[in-house]
Amino acid sequence: MPLIFDNQFANKFPELCHAQKIQPDGQAKLRWVNDTLWKSLSHDSPPKELADWIAGNRDWLGTEPVAQKYAGHQFGHFNPYLGDGRGLLVGQVKTANERYDLHVKGAGPTPYSRGGDGRAVLRSSIRELLASEAFQALGIPTTRALALVSTEGRIQRETIEPGAMLVRVARTHIRFGHFEHCLYRNLEDSAKRLWQHSIEELWPSTADKTVSEQFRYVVNATAEMIAKWQAYGFVHGVMNTDNMSLAGETFDYGPYAFFDAYKPNHIFNHTDHAGRYGFMQQPGVGLWNLKRLAHALGLFAGDAPVDDVLDDYEPVLRQEFLKVMKQRLGLTHVDDDETCWSLISGWLMLLETYQLDYNLSYRALGALFNKNSQALNGPLEKTATEIKSKGQSWLSDYSKAVANKPDTATMKQVNPLVILRTHHAQYVIEQAEQGDDKPLTDYVSALMTPFDETHNNTRWVLPPEPGQAPAELSCSS
Ligand code: AMP
Ligand code: MG
Ligand code: MG
Repeated sequence: MPLIFDNQFANKFPELCHAQKIQPDGQAKLRWVNDTLWKSLSHDSPPKELADWIAGNRDWLGTEPVAQKYAGHQFGHFNPYLGDGRGLLVGQVKTANERYDLHVKGAGPTPYSRGGDGRAVLRSSIRELLASEAFQALGIPTTRALALVSTEGRIQRETIEPGAMLVRVARTHIRFGHFEHCLYRNLEDSAKRLWQHSIEELWPSTADKTVSEQFRYVVNATAEMIAKWQAYGFVHGVMNTDNMSLAGETFDYGPYAFFDAYKPNHIFNHTDHAGRYGFMQQPGVGLWNLKRLAHALGLFAGDAPVDDVLDDYEPVLRQEFLKVMKQRLGLTHVDDDETCWSLISGWLMLLETYQLDYNLSYRALGALFNKNSQALNGPLEKTATEIKSKGQSWLSDYSKAVANKPDTATMKQVNPLVILRTHHAQYVIEQAEQGDDKPLTDYVSALMTPFDETHNNTRWVLPPEPGQAPAELSCSS
């Protein structure tokens, strides 16, 4: 069965988008496809025409591609001129119960390109692909990667780079910035219909509730998503309101990073001079962004106190963070929250002081208490040894709190052995740029099964050697 398209956005909101086709950039080659995701959308295998559909070399039946118009706050400043500058929403795919957006990134210039070339390079497309599938495996809400093609395009960034197009799948591509655009242009009716449409798509059971009650779902989804970023040591890098999905899915992967060594105050995005989007800022920025959305919803919400709902943001985020951290530290049976918070902050202090590898430390901690189920060797053994020698006093409090028996079964299910690391991403990108996709395929497979012990002796568990991972990442993609 082919994909069944039901293009609600293009049909209901012509005033909020610009219809245009994918603009080819030479011959296309399929570099990676997500077979499982494809099957979940179509009950079939990917067809041989797929690369040409994605790259615009052949008509993709049923799609009605559009560039979406939106606005947004970028680094704190309102910009009304945003929109899909290099990606097209090709349509909505209908499955048994839901619709999913398909979006091709790198599809050529649009009226919202603002002088940009409308293209995406292979490097950044691979980085988005890796992050999407790593997040999915970790259980952090995310947009997905369906397929990657490379084109013959040669694209000028800091150097000349090969071009690519990535198909992204998401619950929605409606961003906070869509409503900011409506407010700016005073499109009250569009805003109202767009909100109703979003609620029907994302939280249909709340269709009869007030706007502020519905907004609570966006607030909670955003808070829970960011809580998980904080628990897994992820820095998004560009939390502009146009990069915030209404669905609370992690969206628009640019200069992101997971920690290797734990450096909570480090700024990865090299254009972020003020450190606005640093790791510790993320929970606060999430709230700031939700305030921009609440303000925009005021356009049609009448007297409903949309803002009041924001009081829930911080408690929801803290509760979710505590829940995930308790799982990660094996504290699921420790009922006293005070004890848990104190162990969590002591643990984070330990990791920061001795610059331990952020995610491996959780895995190593579990292994220390359950030697039978986890072979301790390589970087895991090294990390475990460091925890034992540097963290004696913390370990003694911890052992007492868990009566020497942390919940190691849960720990193994939530603490990845394989983490998305910049130096591994760079390696697979370099290989792919030279035409070898095997490392890419291997790394994605490992990231899709990150808890699996069989990865123990592979290169993918290795943290970077000193100097191997760049301290900063560029936005240029
Ligand atoms: P981002 O930082 O990826 O969220 O992008 C911000 C805005 O710039 C979005 O409206 C993008 O569509 C647009 N943009 C990014 N890269 C390009 C490009 N190469 N050509 C045209 N527009 C772009
Ligand atoms: Mg964006
Ligand atoms: Mg981007």
